[in-house]
Amino acid sequence: MMNLPRIIDCSMTDCAYNTNKMCHALAITVGAAAPLCDTFLKLGQKGGVKESTGSVGACKVASCKFNNALECVADGVHVGRHADHPECDTFAPR
Ligand code: SF4
Ligand code: SF4
Repeated sequence: MMNLPRIIDCSMTDCAYNTNKMCHALAITVGAAAPLCDTFLKLGQKGGVKESTGSVGACKVASCKFNNALECVADGVHVGRHADHPECDTFAPR
């Protein structure tokens, strides 16, 4: 099995899957019109798997040069806060 791209860091500290700027969702989905993290969840509790670092499970942003058949093939991605939305900062147009 291919290794999923790791989420190197994420600045959405108010997300339920975020602890100390690390994502602990096993596999996020990114997309579609903009490279936003669709897995982002604001909740009064924390979730995810603490022992694991999050990965990109699927990405719908076909216009990104790291996108191959609607999957991310980057080594890792950074997720940042843009206008209160979590956006993939590793996105690069083809
Ligand atoms: S990458 Fe997405 S799911 Fe993971 S902590 Fe950031 S906003 Fe939450
Ligand atoms: S780097 Fe590109 S393909 Fe990978 S998650 Fe970000 S937007 Fe999607």
